[in-house]
Amino acid sequence: MSRRVTVLAAAVLAASLANGAGPEKKEAKPAQAPQKLDRAGQAPQRLDRAGQADRIFVNGRVWTGEPGRPLAEALAVRGTTILAVGSSADVRGHSAKGTEVVDLRGRFVAPGFIDGHLHLLGGSLSLEELRLDDAFTFAALTGLVREWAAAHPDAHWVTGRGWAYAAFPDGLPSRAQLDAVVANRPAWLVSYDGHTGWANSMALRLAGVTRDTKDPAGGEVVRDGKGEPTGALKESAMDLVGRLVPKLLPHEKERAFRNGIAQAAAWGLTSVHQAGIDAEELEILEGALAAVPRLRVYVALDIERDPTPEVLARQEDLRRRFSEGRLRVGAVKGYVDGVVEAKTAAMFEPYPGGGTGLPNWTQEELDRAVAAYDQAGWQVMLHAIGDRGIDMALTAYERAARANGTSGRRHRVEHIEVARTADLPRFKASGVIASTQAMFPYPNQNHLGVYVPTLGPERARRAMAFRAIDDAGAVQSFGSDWPVFTAEVVRGIACAVTRTTVEGTPAGGWEPSQRLTVEAALRHFTRDAAFAEHGEKEKGTLEPGKLADLVVLSQDLLAIPPERIKDTKVLLTVLGGQDTWRAKEF
Ligand SMILES: [Zn+2]
Repeated sequence: MSRRVTVLAAAVLAASLANGAGPEKKEAKPAQAPQKLDRAGQAPQRLDRAGQADRIFVNGRVWTGEPGRPLAEALAVRGTTILAVGSSADVRGHSAKGTEVVDLRGRFVAPGFIDGHLHLLGGSLSLEELRLDDAFTFAALTGLVREWAAAHPDAHWVTGRGWAYAAFPDGLPSRAQLDAVVANRPAWLVSYDGHTGWANSMALRLAGVTRDTKDPAGGEVVRDGKGEPTGALKESAMDLVGRLVPKLLPHEKERAFRNGIAQAAAWGLTSVHQAGIDAEELEILEGALAAVPRLRVYVALDIERDPTPEVLARQEDLRRRFSEGRLRVGAVKGYVDGVVEAKTAAMFEPYPGGGTGLPNWTQEELDRAVAAYDQAGWQVMLHAIGDRGIDMALTAYERAARANGTSGRRHRVEHIEVARTADLPRFKASGVIASTQAMFPYPNQNHLGVYVPTLGPERARRAMAFRAIDDAGAVQSFGSDWPVFTAEVVRGIACAVTRTTVEGTPAGGWEPSQRLTVEAALRHFTRDAAFAEHGEKEKGTLEPGKLADLVVLSQDLLAIPPERIKDTKVLLTVLGGQDTWRAKEF
């Protein structure tokens, strides 16, 4: 990542700070006066202090997420928590002098959205760096790179991310293609999924990558027919070049975090799960959250391959230090395998053209590490995409529980793209969380043109099988994997419900039998994601006593046609009773 002046990011943050009232800002809306009697005729002034709301939201369509009582009209907030949920008349009974009344005028309210899997720093940086996500042709892609390079003549490196495998005739890029665009300085562009890097010749030269370079464990230096590196580096081989890219300074990371936190609040997020972080980044995130207190972050530390007592003690210190409040450490996260397009996801059957993927662990190593963390009371999150990788993760969890006699750890498998159908019941049986990403089945050109053919028809039919996962009784937590996909939750809900692009293609949706109802998608982004972080007692549904984390949307998701979900705007985000985002039009 080169250090660039990020005028755009600064502008977005400034605009957002000015627009979405920060929690430190007091609400300017006048309280409604005079107070009315509620239906029972009880005078509000007779309320004891504990029954008096600071704020009531009335005349809405409130989706509570609570199975017994999914819909209500209104809710009352006192301090950081919900005081009451019910009819507007009931809730008005909690208003007294000084209570702010928010008339929702029929707007849709849901529990604050929870993103069950993202990378906050990468996502935050993606708001300001060269993004190649929407370039599906080679010409469009190289055009964006050329433009960025011309606009940033002082950057020592040309860096960016988001390219799709579909933009390249061979499914993988080459250094010669990049040399034609950037020849006089090193260039390093990371694929949209973060699992393959594309270097130009100068970057390879600086990294000392030649035909003699050996493939590192868990990675591949892609070579041409003559054995020369092509410029594509997969998985751990990405470090060969990636480590040379100038590192961001702590204050640059903190600025990015602040910007990302503000953006997350504007998308209706009140909580996110950070999938892996190191101790230094955790400190920086703590500082950013203190400055922009608009998000709760549940953190998974990076897993250690060899969790010795010393390693566990060091991680335990962090868990104890961040055990409550907005920033909470509770899990460790590792990678069992890679991704489909790079053919690194671990499969039982070979990919077209050969190979069954690149597991990062042997089953024995994985079992040992998982058992040690399980014994020490950690929740383990394992990225596993191929059917064999998913089986390895489930097997490690099952063995750990059996060997340690533990239960209720809520270990998680992240992504679960191509599970064997027969393995899905293992989630419920072992209490393992299915942590999937709502936009992963987004059927764009990359998905249909590269992802699906790389799987082949039999595996494609069981890919991102959200419905089958639900039907197998698993707790399914939705996330975005931001920056892999946007963390804009309404886009995720739209994708899970329609399985089409925003343009509505393919008609009827890709693998339409796996489409979800709106209610199921909402549940995965709220209640189930709260459960996945052991947080269901305090959030995930709108119930008295729970945190007042909620979102007000411009459209009633349960009433509009699915193809309109994507156009929904987040009007208000409330975190612990305080506004963290308010749209101008609300
Ligand atoms: Zn991830």
